[in-house]
Amino acid sequence: MMTGGCLTGSDGEGPGRRPAGAGPWRGRVRQYVPRDTSTVSDWGENLYGDPCHECGFDWAISRDEAIKSVVNTPRSYAQVLADADADADGSERDPELTWSVGAYICHVGDNLRIWAERLAGVCRGASPVVASYDEGLLAVARAYEGIAIEAAMWSLERAVEEWKRAVDESLVADIFLDHPDRGLQSLVDVIRSNAHDAFHHQWDIERSIRPGPRS
Ligand SMILES: [Zn+2]
Repeated sequence: MMTGGCLTGSDGEGPGRRPAGAGPWRGRVRQYVPRDTSTVSDWGENLYGDPCHECGFDWAISRDEAIKSVVNTPRSYAQVLADADADADGSERDPELTWSVGAYICHVGDNLRIWAERLAGVCRGASPVVASYDEGLLAVARAYEGIAIEAAMWSLERAVEEWKRAVDESLVADIFLDHPDRGLQSLVDVIRSNAHDAFHHQWDIERSIRPGPRS
């Protein structure tokens, strides 16, 4: 059950674990031993289930399909809002959630922007060790609930564009990231988890706009 504004806490990423064997990064960061260029982490499957117990996301989604899913996010969200019985203004909220529809749109845009920033940094020679962020604090600092849905959608569209550029650059570099909660993640792991975040919150938005009977 979703009780918070986010998926599971900080960074849109619940408490994860490091992959067995600590992955290809051994000891000092620069001692890189390639192990698997496709996927090294089952963080998402372990945390949410495969498929996700809530939104049904299939973690076996191909890299290219996951990229396409993220790229289509602004269009998908716009369609959900357009399909609402009444004009959605972003203030709709499922009783189980602390974030409104508009806040989720803000979060997904910010999350993609932050992941793009991480990927771009590593592509430019930075350490693969990235910092976590607290999405709850970010929501408060940015005052999500006071951001107009039109503005949130504008930010989401641009965040997706930046994310796609960072992913394209990362595909050439074939990078890994090391996250404090998730552990080691290949680029495919990152793309899939980013796609899940956007997909899962579409499910949150849909149930906020069209509340139905609960079992
Ligand atoms: Zn999900």
